[in-house]
Amino acid sequence: SAALWQRELREQFPIVTAHPESAYLDSAATSQKPRAVLEAVQTYLTTSNANAGRGTYPWANRTTELVEGTRDRVKEFLGDPEPDHSTVHFTSGTTEGLRTVARDWLVPYLDDGDEILVPFADHRANLDPWVEAQRLLAARGIRVHLRALPYQAVSGDYDHRVLGDLVGPRTRFVAATHVHHVYGGDMNVHRIRAAVGPDVPICLDAAQSVGHLPVDLADPALDVDFVAFSGHKAMALPGSGAVWARNARGPAFRPAGWQGTPNTVGIVSLRAALDWLDLAGPDRIAGWTAGLTTRLTDRLRHLDPYEILGCPTSLAADSALPAAQRRHGIVTFRHQDIPSDDLGFILYSHGFMVRADSLCQAGAGEKDGSVRVSPHIYNTVEEIDRLLTVLASLA
Ligand code: PMP
Repeated sequence: SAALWQRELREQFPIVTAHPESAYLDSAATSQKPRAVLEAVQTYLTTSNANAGRGTYPWANRTTELVEGTRDRVKEFLGDPEPDHSTVHFTSGTTEGLRTVARDWLVPYLDDGDEILVPFADHRANLDPWVEAQRLLAARGIRVHLRALPYQAVSGDYDHRVLGDLVGPRTRFVAATHVHHVYGGDMNVHRIRAAVGPDVPICLDAAQSVGHLPVDLADPALDVDFVAFSGHKAMALPGSGAVWARNARGPAFRPAGWQGTPNTVGIVSLRAALDWLDLAGPDRIAGWTAGLTTRLTDRLRHLDPYEILGCPTSLAADSALPAAQRRHGIVTFRHQDIPSDDLGFILYSHGFMVRADSLCQAGAGEKDGSVRVSPHIYNTVEEIDRLLTVLASLA
């Protein structure tokens, strides 16, 4: 059964089993690591640690193979239909990935008068690099215009009904998000593709999708050109991540500085993490976390003082929708009387580790604090029920 399968996987997370009295519910910030990942790192460091490059001795060769092999592994994991034409660049996470696309690819690509569409209410990591690109270009006398992707007020999804109005002959690039880090909603990038047409490159912030649900670049609904993600949110070590580039629209992605010493340990951990995730099954993982978030939202929306952000319908109701419109692994809410950081401390006093602040959302201020619960495969139904008991006692 699903519960037995989950228990087996949960037991593979040493930090989780060592703290049975606590419940880590902050996996949208970073995931815990399964033993297989910890062991891969230990094995690497105790058998063949060296710098990558064309070595004349086996440890260096082995390290080079691990790094290059992990590029192929990332492509395979993402379902890359044309791995001979794409590039994988290792980063410390999504922030660095998006910044690298902005500086090393977008800046040289844009001309005076060009327009780019960017998200003003997603994670700040997916706004700052585009503003920075605009600034760098302005310093060279090249003016580019940033247009705000439109949002639907209640759900927090992009508003596809007016997307078309923003697109013109000078639209050269779109930055979008795969799964929103506050609302947990799939942002339906296929609608952006439909609005901008077949030629405009789209860069996807996949921080909340890779490692949490299946990501398949062979799916025509995911016709994007860059995918930036964080390894550390996908079972790999902190300081790991990557950008995948399709290299089909515009020049190939050749980031500066790739010749430097890579984060070999992070890369080794990423490879082990992707192997682990593929064995566990991203679809089954997504199913498990959706079950937990459904349980939470279905109860929480009947508890008066709580307002769930960006999630007007319950997941149960959402499950009648196509997969692309469901909520994934994230429930964010406010209590009408208790400030979010106080609520965070109260929950921690009961053993729950959640995120409680403005969640790095672009445009959000101090007053916009909220509590985010983001379960993963190591969380249980019992943990969600215990959390609900505490939340209900504050209602
Ligand atoms: N984008 C989104 C949607 C995120 O949720 C996060 C992580 N909070 C980031 C970007 C930044 O990721 P990282 O810290 O790995 O750079």
